[in-house]
Amino acid sequence: MFDNLQERLGKVFEGLTKRGALTEEDVDAALREVRVALLEADVALPVVKQFIADVRERAVGQEVLRSVTPGQQVVKVVNDRLVEMLGGEQSEITLKTEPPTPIMLVGLQGSGKTTTTGKLAKRLKEKQKKRVLMASLDVQRPAAQDQLKQLGWQVGVDTLDNVPGEPPKAIAKRALQQATLGGYDVVLLDTAGRLAIDDELMREVAEIRDAAQPTESLLVCDAMTGQDAVTTAERFRDEVGLTGVVLTRVDGDARGGAALSMRQVTGKPIKLIGTGEKLEELEPFYPDRIANRILGMGDVVSLVEKAQESIEEEDAQKLEKKLQKGRFDLDDMAQQYKQLQKMGGMSQLMNMMPGMGKMGKQLQNAKFDEKALNRQLAIISSMTKDERKRPELIKASRKQRIAKGSGMTVQDVNKLLKQHAEAQKMMKRVKKMGKKGLQRHGMPG
Ligand code: GDP
Ligand code: MG
Repeated sequence: MFDNLQERLGKVFEGLTKRGALTEEDVDAALREVRVALLEADVALPVVKQFIADVRERAVGQEVLRSVTPGQQVVKVVNDRLVEMLGGEQSEITLKTEPPTPIMLVGLQGSGKTTTTGKLAKRLKEKQKKRVLMASLDVQRPAAQDQLKQLGWQVGVDTLDNVPGEPPKAIAKRALQQATLGGYDVVLLDTAGRLAIDDELMREVAEIRDAAQPTESLLVCDAMTGQDAVTTAERFRDEVGLTGVVLTRVDGDARGGAALSMRQVTGKPIKLIGTGEKLEELEPFYPDRIANRILGMGDVVSLVEKAQESIEEEDAQKLEKKLQKGRFDLDDMAQQYKQLQKMGGMSQLMNMMPGMGKMGKQLQNAKFDEKALNRQLAIISSMTKDERKRPELIKASRKQRIAKGSGMTVQDVNKLLKQHAEAQKMMKRVKKMGKKGLQRHGMPG
């Protein structure tokens, strides 16, 4: 299936000639194929429509990188937006500071709730050293409770004994009591599904929710069900409330399109994916991997990324040469601001990484004020090419025009010009110092 798509996209790209910026025709031609690819990957139709419109807006007018075709460039935009929409970062299961944490798994019959309950128990026990209690709230199917008990034996996790005739919400309450008394960290509540979504199921699950007050309400859904999954997700979202999604059967042939649909419909992160029937086949969700699965264009994406990197490197080298000559215009300043902006993004990333929080904060305090940077960049981008090269051209009327264009005041423009003048002076001084000067300051020549 993927080969087919790649070939088709390949043909479209061959037809597109290289131009400076992506035109509407370029984008539309590539997006027609992407649309088919998304539908083939089982992304729900309304989600596809919304996604395509969104990407179109981002892609038209974008500069095509050297050594890259317009089609490849569009694929990169599609990929990036896909990753972004799939959640960008990874999201883990939330545990309460005060145990036990109740986690409820909901979904249709056969979606993989019971299997996922067993897998999650194993994961929490082995990876996070948690004491887990599982409880089957499935009074619909007689075999369901035995199924969970079996899984409990397999993974070495306790299962709540069932009492005949006990209704689901009472089981949930009893599970929580037992977990508190027994010193368990997590209680997994495996609920019953139905073949199709119905009012009875919704009522039952809502009752369990009220009884257990779960920290996580995870919708378990089958990656292979594609289009239907959306209606299910909407009902659970509205009537139960969800905190996340577990996508099952993301193995073999599954093309992962349901991931995008689920994320869009629920607005909640996909926390885990099931990739097989075995109990260890439960993995964290990596948006970039699923994007690659949906599009099947990983090679193109890394090609464009390489092209991007090499251009950034060239730009940095060009700037360095200019600085050596003591020249530093407003374009150069804008480029530096953009690099700072990237570092600002990095500081946020670092805040999220365990153990790196402090460093991220330090970086952020070190004047990487995003908004200020954006304002500076807005001012510079309201200037003409000539003005950026020769700031001395910018007199009163031009200042007014630039201020208006960027939504700033003339004082703001003055401040920026002053900053630039100072930076330029410093560059000249560095140049004057020259090689000898640098050597005298203890630097190698
Ligand atoms: P429930 O009705 O929602 O509790 O669904 P079950 O947990 O009983 O799962 C139904 C079937 O799907 C079982 O045969 C499972 O082995 C299978 N299953 C569950 N998760 C996965 C998965 O991630 N991959 C595959 N291939 N099969 C799965
Ligand atoms: Mg079940």
